[in-house]
Amino acid sequence: MPDDSSVYKTLLESTRAIPWKIDWKTMRFAYIGPQIEALLGWPPESWASAEDWASRMHPEDRERVVDFCVSQSKNGCDHEADYRALTQDGRHVWIRDVVHVVRNAQGEVDSLVGFMFDISERKETELKLLALQKELEALSFKDGLTGVANRRMFDTVLETEWTQARRHCQPLSLILIDIDYFKQYNDHYGHIQGDDCLRRVGQTLGAAAMRARDLLARFGGEEFALILPETDGAAARTVAERCRNLIFKAQIPHANSAISQILTVSLGVGTLIPGHQDQALAFIESVDRRLYEAKQAGRNRIAAGG
Ligand code: GH3
Ligand code: MG
Ligand code: MG
Repeated sequence: MPDDSSVYKTLLESTRAIPWKIDWKTMRFAYIGPQIEALLGWPPESWASAEDWASRMHPEDRERVVDFCVSQSKNGCDHEADYRALTQDGRHVWIRDVVHVVRNAQGEVDSLVGFMFDISERKETELKLLALQKELEALSFKDGLTGVANRRMFDTVLETEWTQARRHCQPLSLILIDIDYFKQYNDHYGHIQGDDCLRRVGQTLGAAAMRARDLLARFGGEEFALILPETDGAAARTVAERCRNLIFKAQIPHANSAISQILTVSLGVGTLIPGHQDQALAFIESVDRRLYEAKQAGRNRIAAGG
């Protein structure tokens, strides 16, 4: 039977976790596993004090981690912290440090012992998942076909802007844009090209929204909507006119349109300062009625009103 301490030493120095011990009074390393050199490049004898540990940490992590570890240790609480450790050749490795506070017979803190774990792979996966989650979130607010905001985003933004406009007594404008004779477009060019056309219209209308808070969304089928916060009726009509011009300039052929050789749109515009009695849905309906008027009046035009 080998004596216990040699068994422990072998065990400690053959695991992938790196054991260490810091004397609390002097804040100096009493021990650090030789595996540290393979992981970070710094030889064990270069780990003299807690300072060395702190200085070999990513500057963005240092303050948070050092403050946390010191206060937990002072309170005698076991703890763990994730941080990026600096390697001798200037890279960073994600480490999880698991710390146990050892007390003497009098109950005073005597030393800290712990293990450092290389968690870089886990972190990498975590960060990838996080990025993926963000992407998914963005996708769930995007219309799959045209890439502009979808109906869900429209509903969310309109609700937010509605509340803002009511609170600050600011005018809120809405433009509904509907492609003229799009059924005929599909009939003539086919559904695939119809989809292409919707993409182009989406892109083209995107250029009409000039302010950061303006939102262009696909409202449904071949209808788009523009939410214009803090925009009065006159300004909204200008934006609607810009939409019509941009579509005209795009010169998308529409051989089967009853009113033109190129693709046109009809637009309904509405503006209000929402009061407590007003409902967003009723507002959308009123703008939709303007759109209907534009269609009735011959299409390729704007109908505006409160
Ligand atoms: P109006 O001038 O009165 O607006 O006539 P319209 O033909 O544009 O209107 P209608 O509502 O009769 O037809 C809309 C058409 O839009 C019918 C539908 O097939 C087409 N559409 C809706 N969504 C899509 C889509 O995602 N892709 C394609 N290609 N077509 C679509
Ligand atoms: Mg329509
Ligand atoms: Mg239409």
